[in-house]
Amino acid sequence: MSTQTNRLWIKNPLAIHTNSACDARGGLVIESGRIAELVPSGAEPTQPWDSTFDAREHVVIPGLINTHHHFYQTLTRALPEALNKELFPWLKSLYPVWARLEPEMLSAATELALTELLLSGCTTAADHHYLFPKGLEDAIDLQVAAARKVGVRVTLTRGSMSLGEEDGGLPPQSVVQTEAQILADCERLVKRFHEPGDGARVQVALAPCSPFSVTTDLMKATAELAEQYDVRLHTHLAETLDEEAFCLKMFGMRTVDYLESVGWLQPRTWLAHGIHFNDDEIARLGKAGVGIAHCPSSNMMLASGICQVQTLEAAGCPVGIGVDGSASNDCSNMIQEVRQAMYLQRLRYGSSAVHHQHALRWGTQGSARVLGRDDVGELAPGKQADVALFKLDELRFSGSHDPLAALLLCGAHKADAVMVAGEWRVREGMPLDIDTDALIAKHQDAARRLASN
Ligand SMILES: [Zn+2]
Repeated sequence: MSTQTNRLWIKNPLAIHTNSACDARGGLVIESGRIAELVPSGAEPTQPWDSTFDAREHVVIPGLINTHHHFYQTLTRALPEALNKELFPWLKSLYPVWARLEPEMLSAATELALTELLLSGCTTAADHHYLFPKGLEDAIDLQVAAARKVGVRVTLTRGSMSLGEEDGGLPPQSVVQTEAQILADCERLVKRFHEPGDGARVQVALAPCSPFSVTTDLMKATAELAEQYDVRLHTHLAETLDEEAFCLKMFGMRTVDYLESVGWLQPRTWLAHGIHFNDDEIARLGKAGVGIAHCPSSNMMLASGICQVQTLEAAGCPVGIGVDGSASNDCSNMIQEVRQAMYLQRLRYGSSAVHHQHALRWGTQGSARVLGRDDVGELAPGKQADVALFKLDELRFSGSHDPLAALLLCGAHKADAVMVAGEWRVREGMPLDIDTDALIAKHQDAARRLASN
């Protein structure tokens, strides 16, 4: 089966999600890795085509975009010592386990997380990797290799922790690095791997872990480096009230004031969670164009609170969706996460205010904006051909009427076909070029070794 396309017509879908009002009921045409045209209902493409994909049983959406994850955490899913805890005690129980992470474990975890995401319709994924214990200094290099193998676009963030327990931080000393080590590696990675612009497969962003694990100086120096190399900035912020209390005690200010004080209140920045903001802070974040990665499952799992997605969007913040690390949302399923976002936001804003189209937009175009991209996240002419196609042929969909609504309401969890840059990566529900049984065996073994060391 060829994975390449010349001029491919994805014809007459059961339903299609576009952000524009235009009629695309006739499907879309893919050429040279991009969307060449949208086809109106009952029409044919304006130019000749070489091949056709009959999509009459498929719901077609833009490839989903995950804005926050910790791939390595797939190795510590449902770990007994971390169950039923809130953020800080949860982290404290996991840090010693994570500190034993080895290179081949991270490779397996990255490959597995990306494959799992891909199968859920995800075509671009951000990862926040901040663990660099001795022997794992090349963590991001390993992740780049795994991402190329799976064929998903990635924004790999070079995370960091510099404030260990001995200096009032949360992580153990064995996983913190010096600021000089961190900054030198950030620079090396951006130079080596970051692809700027349209169609990028690998992008690098800089990502101190959180205010409670890095120093103020590192936050400032990282922002300067991001400016110098024109890359994005990422961190966790305002996830829990514990964190707010920590910021007040440690820095004498609330989280957004702290963010501003270190030069991060700016459009390069996107924040994981962004839950505990007051009205004034939301207005400032919106004005600055700071992006938010909404992680509903993780926020429910750790009982962190409910992000004010619609208020943040109205203020001017790009908002996208993230599955978060697999220790706080044990599955990495992007279409399920979009469903969770719809339901959690309904709890805050009401059923009539949050539609399935809103949630799909957050997981596609919204997430693209959060990652600073305008070439993905939308089915429109000229955009990258990143497409996810779902079949509604399981028991859970039987009896459903509106196919696009059914995708979320009935709980779709697995794409039938997924394309990245015009190249098929999933067909008939199976990833191409990846032996999932062998991958699971390798990953299970790594997880067992990590937990039992
Ligand atoms: Zn996280």
